[in-house]
Amino acid sequence: MLVSPEQGTLKVPDLLYILLVNYEREVDMMECTIEKNTAACTCTYDSCPRKGKCCECVAYHRSKKQLPGCFFSPEGEASYDRSYRRFIMENT
Ligand code: SF4
Repeated sequence: MLVSPEQGTLKVPDLLYILLVNYEREVDMMECTIEKNTAACTCTYDSCPRKGKCCECVAYHRSKKQLPGCFFSPEGEASYDRSYRRFIMENT
């Protein structure tokens, strides 16, 4: 049970308000990290719409049973072969 010091037990509208306010803060934080992520991104496919959006990048490649470009050496990344096999080949 959640308890507010001023009001006692929180009701559902209070919880929704807290979730929405926190969600907006999270989105603001995410937008702040996109520039940093993009600056640090080692992927050379610059026109990719997921560049800097690491969560989307991971989800996209995971759905294809692949890994994002930043998991690979510069040579591996440049091959655009994002397969698990390539990753294992590079790291064993
Ligand atoms: S690794 Fe893939 S999804 Fe991520 S930025 Fe590069 S091309 Fe886009």
